[in-house]
Amino acid sequence: MARSRFAPQPEPHETGHSRQRAWVEVNTSAISANARAICGLIGERTSLMAVVKADGYGHGAVAVARAALGGGATSFGVATLAEGVELRAAGIEAPVLVLGNLTQVEELRSCLRWELMPTISNMREALLCQNLASSSGRPMALQLKLDTGMARLGADWEEGPRLVAALRELDAIQLAGLYTHLAWADASHSEDNGLTQLQQQRFEQVLTSLRIQGLAAGCRHLANSAATLRHRQHHFDLVRVGLALYGHPPAPHLAGSVALEPAMQVHARVTLIRSVPAGVGVSYGHRYRTTAPTRLAVVAIGYADGVPRQLSNRMDVLYEGLRLPQVGSITMDQLVIDASGAPGLEIGAVVTLLGRQGQAQITPADWSARCDTIAWEVLCGFKHRLPRLDGGAEPGDGPEPAAAATADPQGDGPTGC
Ligand SMILES: *Cc1c(COP(=O)(O)O)cnc(C)c1O
Repeated sequence: MARSRFAPQPEPHETGHSRQRAWVEVNTSAISANARAICGLIGERTSLMAVVKADGYGHGAVAVARAALGGGATSFGVATLAEGVELRAAGIEAPVLVLGNLTQVEELRSCLRWELMPTISNMREALLCQNLASSSGRPMALQLKLDTGMARLGADWEEGPRLVAALRELDAIQLAGLYTHLAWADASHSEDNGLTQLQQQRFEQVLTSLRIQGLAAGCRHLANSAATLRHRQHHFDLVRVGLALYGHPPAPHLAGSVALEPAMQVHARVTLIRSVPAGVGVSYGHRYRTTAPTRLAVVAIGYADGVPRQLSNRMDVLYEGLRLPQVGSITMDQLVIDASGAPGLEIGAVVTLLGRQGQAQITPADWSARCDTIAWEVLCGFKHRLPRLDGGAEPGDGPEPAAAATADPQGDGPTGC
C-alpha cells in the first residue's frame, strides 16, 4: 500500500465509531431478557431459534446472537450464506439455518464447510447437497421447507411426504428439519379468514402422513414471533423468533402475552441552534413555515442513516422527557426540530429518536404507522453509517462494539433442534 503522509490509524471519533454525531444504542441485556421470556412462554419441549438475519434486524448480528444464547436460544436463523459465515467466523457454534434459498453449488459447498444448514424447496438442491457431501465424505444436514399458503419459498405441502421419503434415500444428507412459514400470523383472528388455521392444518396433515409411513423429518417448526405469541398450538419443536427477540410485539393485540423490552435506541446530537422569527420556511421545499418566533435546532441524522423521509413534519424527538416536534423536510444527513419548548437544549445535546425517556417512549411501530411500513423495516433500515454501541457505556466513550453477554456457545451439534 502507498505510504500516506497522514497518521496510519484514525481515531474512533474519526471513523464514526463513536457518540459524536448519531448512533444506535443496543442493549444486549434486553435481548437476553427477551429470549428468556420467550423460552418461559414456549416451555421445555420447544426450543428457541433466534432469527438474526439482516444484521440482527439492524442491532448487530454477532452481539445479538451471543446475547440470545445467554437467554436460552439454541440455534440461529439467517437469510444468506454470508450472514451464516459471519456467525461462524465470530466463533458461534450453535446450529444455523439459512432461511433463504441457496441455488449455487459454491454456496452449498460453503454450507458444508461452515456447518450451516441450507433450506431445500425441491430435489434440485437436495441432489447438489448429496453430491457435495458424498464426495467430501462428510454428511450434510439440511431442512426441507413446505409452502402451506405463503406462496414464497417451499415445496407444495402436498408433496411433503413424497419429498421426505425421497430425501431419506440420499445417504449423504441428513434431513434435520421440516418447516413452513405463516403468511398472516399477526392478523387478529377474524382478520385472516382462517388462513393461519388452514396453514396449521396442512402442516399437521403432512406430519400425520409421515407418522403413518414411519418417516422421521427431524425438527418440526412453523412459528414466527406472531405465531409464537398467538397460541401454543403453533409451537411444535421449535419457534423462529425475530421481532419479539428485539423487544417489539408484531401487532398491538399480541403485546400482552409476554413482557418484551426494546433493545434498540437511536440517538443524535444537536449541532446548531438558531432563533428565527415567524414566517420562516424551513428546509427543502419549505414544507414547514414557522408561525411564531421559534428556536430551531439542527440534529445530525437524516434519511441516509435510516430515518424515513416520509416522517418529515410527522415525528418527534425526546429530550429530557419532553417531546420536541421535527419540522420541515428530513434531509440526507440532518433534520431540524422545534426546540422552543426546551430552552435548556444546547449545541452538543443528545436527542432520542427511538427509545424511552421517563414516561415518554417512541417505538418503531409509532414510526411505521405514520409512513405506511412495518416495524421490521424501520429496525433494519438503520444504515452502517450509524455505529452500534452498547447501552452500558457512558456518552463520549470511544469504540464499544455492542458487547456480548456471557454466552454458552453449546448447541446440540450442528443439527440440534
Ligand atoms: C424472518 C423470518 C422469521 C422471523 O420473523 P419475525 O416475524 O421477525 O419473528 C421466521 N421465519 C422465517 C422463515 C423468516 O424468514
